[in-house]
Amino acid sequence: LKSSAKKGEHPTAESFGIKITNPDRIIYPEGNITKGALADYYAAIDPLIMVDAARRPMTLIRCPQGRSKKCFFQKHDAGTMGEHVKHVPVKEKDGEVQDYLYFDDVRGLLSCVQMGAIEFHGWGSRIDPLENPDRLVFDLDPDVGLDFAKVKEAAVRLRALLGDLGLTTFPLLSGGKGIHVVVPLDAIRDWPTVKSFAERFTRAIAQAEPQMFTANIRKVERKGRIFLDWLRNQRGATAVMPYSARAREGAPVAAPIAWEELEKYQGGNHFSITDADELLDRASSKVLAGWGQANQALPDL
Ligand code: ATP
Ligand code: MN
Ligand code: MN
Repeated sequence: LKSSAKKGEHPTAESFGIKITNPDRIIYPEGNITKGALADYYAAIDPLIMVDAARRPMTLIRCPQGRSKKCFFQKHDAGTMGEHVKHVPVKEKDGEVQDYLYFDDVRGLLSCVQMGAIEFHGWGSRIDPLENPDRLVFDLDPDVGLDFAKVKEAAVRLRALLGDLGLTTFPLLSGGKGIHVVVPLDAIRDWPTVKSFAERFTRAIAQAEPQMFTANIRKVERKGRIFLDWLRNQRGATAVMPYSARAREGAPVAAPIAWEELEKYQGGNHFSITDADELLDRASSKVLAGWGQANQALPDL
């Protein structure tokens, strides 16, 4: 997909043929950041965000009046988002088939932004094969008030433990409070197998290192520890897409980083939508070469 942007300029929603209405509407009041600025960020970051966000069932967080007003999740397509937002029929637990939304390219994503979407959260599988996840995500959720240094320590520990199983992993600053450890998979095993791996692995390390990890979602159980949210790895669950903006203070984005540079970050919200140039430079530099790429089988556990 080519935009009509001139050489040396970032593409814009317009250059992809998507009209953004009310571009001056402020959607991040604390920083006077507008809907137009968000659309410009996504148009600029197109070659990076689409690597992951294309052809996955997608849940949107929409905040049509801005992030400080009512926001809501949307995963079904009511058919109101235009021709570039596609739907895929998904059989749900109760046996009913529902249309989930996805897109092939940035025109679909920008159509969602036009409809007030800020955040993009994807399934762990693509629409084809829908039943075979191509990544695991370990979502590290620290207890309130826990120092970010502890989150980094836990991520490094997780990297080592997954490395012992032969798995290459990639860290993602969530754009919020935590870190996600992403494990690309070859999309061979099915959802129950992948979920079972995530659960058994998490329970085992929470038992072995109870001072650092808990596998229990209940906040009162967290007590200075990190909840390893293995439930991100079940059919129908989503995780924030790399390079998605967050509907949080300061317009942070979920940002891929390298293990080697983890130490220098002081929070999960280091990068924001004003950093498109830096994010593009980083992605084409040696630091992030091959981020998220590894065609690996789920090990036996
Ligand atoms: P943080 O680092 O602040 O925890 P996060 O993106 O990891 O940011 P979580 O609340 O831990 O936020 O949620 C992890 C993922 O679970 C989210 O990225 C999102 O995709 C998904 N999620 C959370 N709550 C919901 C929900 N109510 N409906 C659908 N998906 C959700
Ligand atoms: Mn989290
Ligand atoms: Mn979580």
